[in-house]
Amino acid sequence: MPVFSARDFSDHEKVVFGCDPECGLRAIIAIHNRNRGPALGGCRMWPYASDDEALRDVLRLSRGMTYKSAMANLDLGGGKSVIIGNPRTQKTEALLRAMGRFVDSLGGAYIAAEDSGIGVADTRVMRTVTPHVTGPEETKSAEGVRTGDPSPSTSYGTFVGIKAAVKYALGRGDLKGLKVAVQGMGNVGFNLASHLKEAGASLWVSDIHEDQVQRAVDQLGATAVPSEDIYGLDVHVFAPCAMGAIINDQTIPRLKARVVAGAANNQLAEARHGEELMSHGILYAPDYVINAGGVIDVFYQRTGFVQEKVREHVGSIYDTLMEIFERAEHEERPTQEVADAIAEERFSKR
Ligand code: NAD
Repeated sequence: MPVFSARDFSDHEKVVFGCDPECGLRAIIAIHNRNRGPALGGCRMWPYASDDEALRDVLRLSRGMTYKSAMANLDLGGGKSVIIGNPRTQKTEALLRAMGRFVDSLGGAYIAAEDSGIGVADTRVMRTVTPHVTGPEETKSAEGVRTGDPSPSTSYGTFVGIKAAVKYALGRGDLKGLKVAVQGMGNVGFNLASHLKEAGASLWVSDIHEDQVQRAVDQLGATAVPSEDIYGLDVHVFAPCAMGAIINDQTIPRLKARVVAGAANNQLAEARHGEELMSHGILYAPDYVINAGGVIDVFYQRTGFVQEKVREHVGSIYDTLMEIFERAEHEERPTQEVADAIAEERFSKR
């Protein structure tokens, strides 16, 4: 399996493979860049079809974290980890502890957080063997009990980002009557759908798990859509909140939405798909800009959590996106390219 010559290798500082046959752990940690600070990023558990697929994901995700933290003006670098396996059937305490020891072996160069397939309860188990796992402490404050779960902040930031994109692309100052398709009804997708519903939007939702979809139908009055049909709906906004690489040669011709704005990481299968979206007149909110709410939340958990400060910082995603949209239109470049250029200026200078 090539690493240095892998398509998604991007001068990563460190890529480490971890294995514990006793509990079945097979995992990869990738540290992309630490110029701004320690490499913080989620730990994802997914039944990857191959080792190559897992490597590709961790290389792309860790690089994305460097850009995300720089763009959100945080003193953090970029890293990520993946565990190969099905979180519904293969996640055990022994496996989580083994992952914790693997994270610990890097001595704090990488700080793990929750991600798809790894929830707050899981990070708490990892935390029993290493301090280099963030977000798992339950704290009580004047605002109530905080579980340490960053996904509500991710959802709120994505909601704010959708408002910016809708304002820019459609000239609408509110979301009343707006039609939105949300792919993935997990932690972030469901919460985002709740914000959208509250703001008066109509929802179409999909998920590969029937129970997740049913919850949105029952609680939010959403319309359930078969997974494959979510791309071609006649809606204003397509909000990907599941897996990456869903904006590709097959899906772009099917999109009727004028805006693609959602929380999923690495939405563009390749960089050229950003240009494709632009040529189809579709405004794309760069993924790592709109979904930075979670890492902002985690950053404040480490440095002192004040709800108002977090809300304000997450709310600044609106202005950051507006700046990117304006610059992209002015320079006639894809939004992702403009975001990358701004982020690179910020993390390469330190
Ligand atoms: P999650 O695992 O809770 O939810 C993902 C959902 O997507 C699951 O319900 C899953 O069944 C569903 N899904 C998977 N494949 C699908 C498909 N093909 N079609 C429809 N649904 C599908 O994860 P999450 O925490 O909600 O994160 C969602 C996305 O947002 C991920 O890409 C994640 O990396 C990204 N993200 C999450 C956070 C966070 O704070 N949790 C922060 C930044 C980015």
